[in-house]
Amino acid sequence: MNSRVKYFDYPLQYKINKTEYIEIIEEVLSRGAYILGKDISKFEENLAGFVGSKFAIGVGNCTDALLLSLHAAGIGAGDEVITVSHTFVATVEVIKFLGATPVFVDIADDHNMNIELVESAITPKTKAIVPVQLNGRICASMDKLVDTAEKYNLIIIEDSAQAIGATYKGKGAGTFGLAGCFSFYPAKLLGTFGDAGAIVTDNEEFAEKLRMLRNHGRGTGTDINLWGLNCRMDNLHAAILNYKLTHLSQWIKRRREIAEMYNDELSGIRELRLPPPPVNSGGHYDVFQNYELEAEYRDNLVSHLNERGIEIMLPWGGKGVHQFNALGIGKVKLPKTEDFFKKALMLPMYPELNNNQIRYIIQVVKDFYGVKISAIKTSLSSV
Ligand SMILES: *Cc1c(COP(=O)(O)O)cnc(C)c1O
Repeated sequence: MNSRVKYFDYPLQYKINKTEYIEIIEEVLSRGAYILGKDISKFEENLAGFVGSKFAIGVGNCTDALLLSLHAAGIGAGDEVITVSHTFVATVEVIKFLGATPVFVDIADDHNMNIELVESAITPKTKAIVPVQLNGRICASMDKLVDTAEKYNLIIIEDSAQAIGATYKGKGAGTFGLAGCFSFYPAKLLGTFGDAGAIVTDNEEFAEKLRMLRNHGRGTGTDINLWGLNCRMDNLHAAILNYKLTHLSQWIKRRREIAEMYNDELSGIRELRLPPPPVNSGGHYDVFQNYELEAEYRDNLVSHLNERGIEIMLPWGGKGVHQFNALGIGKVKLPKTEDFFKKALMLPMYPELNNNQIRYIIQVVKDFYGVKISAIKTSLSSV
């Protein structure tokens, strides 16, 4: 494809530090350290330090992380788990796979779970809440959610797949509840060359259980202590991630710079609703996994951008989890989520974007609302 701005550019990120990656791969393969090697324990230690938790457990991907955490927390048949529909299907599928029932609450203006709505969704069957720290931003009033969970004796498992490095009132994503789950899928803030994930927790017993669950129920020896699965992180990925983690703060800084450029230049356009801009004081330190905004005339804007060589994405193809009919979730009313998906799109957001590319995207968006829009309005009013 001859697009001028790609939505992702995996080969570019690889190329920038290619020598280091090749060295790491060569070293790990030469050592024959493929399964549960020292690179995993090293990465777990570094990750726990980075997010501010006591323990980290490397797993195959974030879906594994969510599944094992909910299972280890005792979630199963008959239980209800409160979450959102504006998320990747993984958040919800794990609840279904455990035989529990997902209960959805609507989103707030920042596109994340509306914490104000959680209390009224609680029933005697509610066992857990899975807030999703989407787009690199922790849910507003996360402290209130923690209070609500305590009041009703509920477990919080954070889906922080998109939020490594984000903080709220100084506390890191993934550290608010019993466990936090991270994804190292290639497009994530910290991505590897394939699938990987991790769980963080401060609870030692819970951490031990997760270590067994990810490895067929085994502890340090060959004894089987409980029914488990194979959800191990590949050692090679751990070695890559250990290296990439040293770049993460720099990458986050660059993402925040890009968000600031978008915000400075696009906030004057009435037809757009931008995400909260990066701030240096106040509650939220956002890390901009994505730059997700709402736009009037969204579909026309998307065509306009595509025609000018700019790739964009609609979040999860433009639907909330409850809107995939084949999943049989049935009638759920989430007005804000549904309205959001009619207008939502995501602009390119990754550290390797250069300022010329960002200025080009901004210009094309401005052109659309400056010139194109009057023509669209005229044609809409004539039908
Ligand atoms: C990416 C993602 C997941 C799943 O992560 P995998 O590592 O691909 O299993 C779960 N939840 C959210 C919000 C995500 O963005």
